[in-house]
Amino acid sequence: MLVAGGHSLLPMMKLRIANPEYLVDINDLVAELGYIVVEPGRPTLVRIGAMTRHREALASDDLAAVCPIFRDAECVIADPVVRNRGTVGGSLCQADPAADLTTVCTVLNAVCLARGPGGEREIPIDEFLEGPYETSLAHNEILVEIRIPLRRNTSSAYEKVERRVGDWAVAAAGAAVTLDGDTIAAARLGLTAVNTEAEALVAVGDSLAGRPATEEVFAQAGREAAQACDPVTDMRGSAEYKRHLASELTIRTLRTAVQRVRNASAVEGN
Ligand SMILES: Cc1cc2nc3c(=O)[nH]c(=O)nc-3n(C[C@H](O)[C@H](O)[C@H](O)COP(=O)(O)OP(=O)(O)OC[C@H]3O[C@@H](n4cnc5c(N)ncnc54)[C@H](O)[C@@H]3O)c2cc1C
Repeated sequence: MLVAGGHSLLPMMKLRIANPEYLVDINDLVAELGYIVVEPGRPTLVRIGAMTRHREALASDDLAAVCPIFRDAECVIADPVVRNRGTVGGSLCQADPAADLTTVCTVLNAVCLARGPGGEREIPIDEFLEGPYETSLAHNEILVEIRIPLRRNTSSAYEKVERRVGDWAVAAAGAAVTLDGDTIAAARLGLTAVNTEAEALVAVGDSLAGRPATEEVFAQAGREAAQACDPVTDMRGSAEYKRHLASELTIRTLRTAVQRVRNASAVEGN
């Protein structure tokens, strides 16, 4: 079994949920797999190496400029100790339904690049995440890169409610919106820690295309997002409260993403 930052794997080993026979430390691959590449000019793609630490993703102004949702999320992932060591690739491979970056990469329609003995293959994020703690990586494959396609007139946002700073989400939501004037041309939504029905949520995002970017439309999307999940009552809150958060946080992230597109257009227009 591979160990990257170890911040998910080691706690699972301590609890005996994971009992790997062998551990392969891939930290020597940091020089090769620790990078964030945003093409200069009008970029169409962001490439993030799997061994990029949370700290580096948080600090990257280039990444925040094209995908502000990344910084929104990294700000609220754990604490500096975890962020110094934990990796973007490890977060995705852990496939924890409460992890923030799985939602971020889903919202951004990321593509995962896997490498194995047979070469490399691209796996769309919706196919990469097979279920809680399960990915479509083969046992002899490693995640090497996350590729994020960029569209013009698009921005994104993430909001999380946590019980205390650095905690896992009670619930969180993300949104990416492409605008054509005042009309939504495309949208993708994501929810964290609320047992999301992925296809239903994709349908809610798709249904926004062609509609005006107004508060009424955001409110309806919030209501529909809350129906596209099935949260459970636990120590973090009741199912009813989490469903309320799914709705409210969807509204807020849609509003912020739209505002960010407008702000960027205003700057470009000046
Ligand atoms: C106290 C604490 C609080 C936390 N809070 C949050 C939070 O609020 N939000 C959040 O999203 N996360 C949180 N985390 C998790 C943190 O983000 C982890 O760092 C991250 O989930 C896993 O990254 P890692 O590099 O440590 O992975 P590891 O623990 O090293 O690995 C996790 C899994 O992925 C596999 N793996 C790792 N890299 C690769 C690769 N390149 N290819 C194939 N398989 C690979 C490993 O074999 C293992 O199965 C928290 C962790 C801790 C300890």
